[in-house]
Amino acid sequence: MTSSDYRSLAGYRHQRRNDITGQPVVVYDATAQGMDASDGRWMIVCEGHSELVVTDTLALARSAAREPQEWCSQCQDVSA
Ligand SMILES: [Zn+2]
Repeated sequence: MTSSDYRSLAGYRHQRRNDITGQPVVVYDATAQGMDASDGRWMIVCEGHSELVVTDTLALARSAAREPQEWCSQCQDVSA
């Protein structure tokens, strides 16, 4: 997908390039996707590896998007 495709997805909020994979890390609003947000409203997805993490605040989501190796096991393997 191109970056404009991610922007058209439900709940899309933010994205940045993952320096490890060269593919996007995308922040979504879980409530806009009709998902259970009890574990955290903001969903950060490593699109290159299809791993995700959730946070309670958008600020935390943005910082998590900068550091995919902190939560994506496959980014950890690549950067190790
Ligand atoms: Zn990853």
